[in-house]
Amino acid sequence: MLTKTLESILDDALAGKDITSEDGVFLLKETHPEAIAAIRETGDRLRQRQVGETVTYVVNRNINFTNICEQHCNFCAFRRDVGDEGAYWLDWEQILEKTTDAVKRGATEICMQGGLNLEAKIEGKSLPYYLRLVETIKSEFPQIHLHAFSPQEVQFIAREDNLSYATVIEALQAAGVNSLPGTAAEILCDRIRRIICPEKIDTKTWLEIVETAQKLGMYTTSTMLSGHIEKPEQQIIHLEHLRNLQQKAINNNYPAKFTEFVLLPFVGQFAPPNLRRRVGRDQPNLEATLQLTAVARIYLGNWIINHQPSWVKLGLKGEQEALKWGCNDLGGTLMEEHITTMAGAKGGTNMTVESLQQAIIAGDRPYRERTTLYSSVCS
Ligand code: SF4
Repeated sequence: MLTKTLESILDDALAGKDITSEDGVFLLKETHPEAIAAIRETGDRLRQRQVGETVTYVVNRNINFTNICEQHCNFCAFRRDVGDEGAYWLDWEQILEKTTDAVKRGATEICMQGGLNLEAKIEGKSLPYYLRLVETIKSEFPQIHLHAFSPQEVQFIAREDNLSYATVIEALQAAGVNSLPGTAAEILCDRIRRIICPEKIDTKTWLEIVETAQKLGMYTTSTMLSGHIEKPEQQIIHLEHLRNLQQKAINNNYPAKFTEFVLLPFVGQFAPPNLRRRVGRDQPNLEATLQLTAVARIYLGNWIINHQPSWVKLGLKGEQEALKWGCNDLGGTLMEEHITTMAGAKGGTNMTVESLQQAIIAGDRPYRERTTLYSSVCS
């Protein structure tokens, strides 16, 4: 039998009310199969009501231009120091080659992020290096949507060159960056950040940079790194921060806001031993990830309506399952992926359009190719 409390929380969500943080934690702590089934069904019904049956995907390419990084996040198997085995740093020609290949293969988006490389400078300045990255792509392919540089990278440039966040974002935007990835959010709770990513920007700074971008008309995505040492309480604090900022952006008519929420479960096979030992498993726990997927849909309510799982982390089968738990988007083809693959993810590094379409059809749902900002791609 379902408890009254569970029913009333789910009824509130279905009535379009914002559930409270206590409600959210309650849903995440439910363990009874019948209760979990009801949470899944509510997430799925909300998805259907908010965005319909169609599942979207984007044809994009990831370019991680360097893995040389000054930081030492506890979950990161991607970073290297200069001279380490496996360290790399793409030159302009390689970046252009990858973009040209992506465009030939039908990409509408380049997603570009990299390590925080102290040597990535032009005449001693960081911003001109990043601007040249953008110009390398945009001067040849002005039509491609450039989704680039996390809030952490924005802070890195600002710190190195002693500039304000707004100055950095405006310069990137003027050069051709079209939207910002909402990565580096991990868990927006400083108690957890101090353990898993102690050198990274804190919660306040992440939110400040994203809000600044949105005020300047730069759309951003939002993410959560789940399934490491955080508890349901901290997952809900994270979702609460995202919901609050989205409400602020909408209520204050910011010219841009969050386009989507992406859940990124922790993969630890080759992550630094410290965190791997504490978590005690290599691959994501699918059941916990799916429950959180549905709760995120319920919690973010009508505020953030596009929800995406990660095939890199869950594999295509896991991602397909997530479509029944509140997701309406399968993300991108990526064409190459380094960050999670180097951590030991088994999902692969490249997804064909056909595989994404087949996964959607197998779940009896229609598909549609989208742009980064969720409009239709004309063929
Ligand atoms: S997660 Fe990013 S900032 Fe942290 S160590 Fe890895 S590359 Fe560097």
